[in-house]
Amino acid sequence: MLHLQKIVSFLIMVFLVLSLVGIPLVVQAGDRPKLIVQITVDALRGDLLSRYENVLGEGGFRYLMNKGILYSNAHYRHANTETIVGHVSLATGTVPAAHGMVGNVWFDREQGRLVYNIEDADYRLLTTGADVDKETEIDPTQRAAKVDGRSPNNILTSTFSDELAVHFAGQSKIFAVSVKDRGAVSMAGHAGKAFWFSKQSGEFVTSNYYFEEYPDWVEQWNARKLAQTYAGKSWELLHPAERYLFGDADDRAYETDFPGFGRTFPHAYGKADDKYFTTRLTLGPAGDELTLDFASTLLEKEQLGQDDIPDYLAISFSTTDYVGHVFGASSLESEDNIAHLDRTLAKLFATIDERVGLENTLIVLSADHGQPEVPGHLQERGIDNAFYFDVDALDKTPAIAALKKRFGVGEELIEAYFQPYLYLNHELIREKKLDLAEVEAAIVSELKKFKGVAYAVSSSALQLGNLPDTRMVRSIRKNFHAKRSGDIYLVFEPNVFINDFDGLTVASTHGSPWRYDTFVPVMFAGAGLPAATVNRPVTPYDIAPTLAAVLGIKPPSGSIGNPLVEVLKQ
Ligand SMILES: [Zn+2]
Repeated sequence: MLHLQKIVSFLIMVFLVLSLVGIPLVVQAGDRPKLIVQITVDALRGDLLSRYENVLGEGGFRYLMNKGILYSNAHYRHANTETIVGHVSLATGTVPAAHGMVGNVWFDREQGRLVYNIEDADYRLLTTGADVDKETEIDPTQRAAKVDGRSPNNILTSTFSDELAVHFAGQSKIFAVSVKDRGAVSMAGHAGKAFWFSKQSGEFVTSNYYFEEYPDWVEQWNARKLAQTYAGKSWELLHPAERYLFGDADDRAYETDFPGFGRTFPHAYGKADDKYFTTRLTLGPAGDELTLDFASTLLEKEQLGQDDIPDYLAISFSTTDYVGHVFGASSLESEDNIAHLDRTLAKLFATIDERVGLENTLIVLSADHGQPEVPGHLQERGIDNAFYFDVDALDKTPAIAALKKRFGVGEELIEAYFQPYLYLNHELIREKKLDLAEVEAAIVSELKKFKGVAYAVSSSALQLGNLPDTRMVRSIRKNFHAKRSGDIYLVFEPNVFINDFDGLTVASTHGSPWRYDTFVPVMFAGAGLPAATVNRPVTPYDIAPTLAAVLGIKPPSGSIGNPLVEVLKQ
C-alpha cells in the first residue's frame, strides 16, 4: 500500500514537473492546430525587420511581430551558416554534426568529387529539360551537382515533418515549396513532398523520389506560365523613396551590376526569352510572389488543414538571400524587398485565414542564416577592416609552396577548397607515406598567418580534442561530421569573405560563425498564441522540438533544441 502511494505521488510529481516546463502529456485533437505553416526567409538577419519597420504594412510581418511571440535573441550555434545547413537544422532541431548536412557542397571521398548536398543519382527530375543550366546558373553550389535527381537521403536524422508522418500513420499532408530545391527538400523531410522552381523551365518541379507523375493541379499551375507574365516588367519601389532608410542611396559601386538588372531602380526582369530572365525573377520580389502563388494553390488543391489530423506546409522564400548577395543587407533593394515580402506574407496569411482560420493554424517564421555587411558599405562608415578574400591566392603563396616542397609533393596536395573546408589529397599523402595529421597541422599554422584568416583547425585536431573551449571551436565541432567534413576548417575575420565564384563576383557572402550570420528571427503566431517578445537566448534548433511538443508527438531523432515554453503555455 505504501509502495502504491509512493508510485502515485511520484506520478503526480512527474506530472507537475512536466506541467511546469509546459510539455503537454496528452494533446486532444480539438486543442491542436489543424495546420502548421513553417516559413523560412532565406538570409533574414535578426535585425532587419525592426530596422526596416517603417516600410512594413499591416497583416504581414506586423501580424507576427505584434500578434505573436517574437524571440529577438536567436542564434545558430554551428559554424557554417549556409542554406542547406540552416534549413536542415530548422527541420531536424539539431546541428550538422548530427544531421550530416555540413555544407551546401562537400567532397565525397568515395566518388572523388565535390557533391551538391541533395543531389541523388538514384532519382531524376520529373520534368525533362528542367535541370540546372551550368552556363546561366549563378549559384556556384548548384553547379557542383552532376545529376538532376534530388532527394533528402543525405539528411541523417528525422525532421519534424517525418515525425508528423509517422505519428499520424501517414494521414498528415506534408508539403514544402521554395524557389531553391534545397529550401524545399530539406523541410519536406523524408516523408513529405517537395516542389521547387526550375530556372530552366520557369516551372515548379519535383523529382521521382516524391511522385511518379505530377498531380493534375501542378500541371495546371505550370500551364498558366505565371513566370512569363513578368516579361517586360520591372521590380519597382513599393513606396515613395523618402520613406526608406536607404532612399537616397540606391546607386552604390559595390553592388553587383547583374546583366540587364542593373544597380538602380527600376530593375528590369527583361524579355521572356532572355537567358537570364528567370534568374532575374529570383533576384527580385517576383521569385517570392511565384512561390506564394504556387503555395496558395497547393493549400487549396491539397485541402490542407481541413480535418482534425494536422497538416504541414513549409514555404522557404529565397529572394532575400539573393538580394543580400547581389546588393547587400544595407541597400535600398534589401529594404524594398522586405517591403514587398511583407505584402506577399500578408496575402499568404489572408489566404490561410480564409481557408483554415489563423486560430486553427500555427505559423512559425525563421531564417536559415543571417547575412554580413558589404565591405564597401562598411568603408563608407569608416570601418576599414572589411575586404574580400582571394582564396585562389592561398595556393600560390611562397609559404604553401614551401610546405609542398617540405613534404615532397607537387600542386596536387590540396584537392579542393569549398566553403568552409580545405580538402587534402589523401591518396597522395598515403603514397608519400606522410602523416595526415602532421601535414594538416603544418598547413594550419601557415594559414593562420594570412591576413584575413581568423582561425583554422584540422579535423584531426578536432577529433583529438585538446583544443581550447571557445565559442569558435564549439561551433566548428557542431559542424563536424567524420564522413563529410573536410581536413581543415577555415574561418575568416569578421567582415572578410570570398566574393568571387568562378568569375561571378557578388557583394556579400554569408557562411561565417560570426554573429551577423548566426542571428535570425524566430516568431510563432496563430493558434490562440498571445502576443509577447522574448529576449532570452534561444536557438533555431528549438523550433522542431517545439512543434513536436505542441502536437504531443516525439521530437525528431537528433533534436538538441528545447521546446519553447512560451509557445506551449496557453
Ligand atoms: Zn540561405
